[in-house]
Amino acid sequence: MVPFPALPLAPSDRTRLISLALSAREGSYSPYSKFRVGACLLTDGGEFVQGCNVECASYGGAICAERTAVVKAVSTGTRKFVALAVTSDVDGMVSPCGICRQVLREFCPLEMPVLLIPASYEEGKTPVKNAAEAEGSETSGVVVETTMGELLPLSFGPSDLEKPRTGPNAGAVAGAEAAA
Ligand SMILES: [Zn+2]
Repeated sequence: MVPFPALPLAPSDRTRLISLALSAREGSYSPYSKFRVGACLLTDGGEFVQGCNVECASYGGAICAERTAVVKAVSTGTRKFVALAVTSDVDGMVSPCGICRQVLREFCPLEMPVLLIPASYEEGKTPVKNAAEAEGSETSGVVVETTMGELLPLSFGPSDLEKPRTGPNAGAVAGAEAAA
């Protein structure tokens, strides 16, 4: 695993981010999986945006907590984020799924810290592991701190669409307006 150094996160922001991810579970609509997930994003403007998973009788219509938070923020004009916390009712690491990782990659820097919070979290008491320490080890009762780059290595993102092509589409430009 290639380590991605995390951008700094102020202790007060970290505390609030974790608390809001935990409370975001209360909005979860998960009658099918009975697996509540809560997430909270910190925006580059210092706002906190909560999200929870919302399921559907047509299972494919479900959306995860992380994407709920992204969609809420982006739909009101916020497109840049600086930290994410994710939690569930499991007393161990629950990590963003593959689809969420790609959607987060659209709007978040690779160095963005991602905090995976156990249900038993207690401020100032719960130990912390980095991704390398967490890999293959016990994560019950542990905060796992990782980054977007660690969650989605060798990723495809908006800037890839800026690259020049060869072949029939040489000279084409399809870059996203919002690409950093
Ligand atoms: Zn997901």
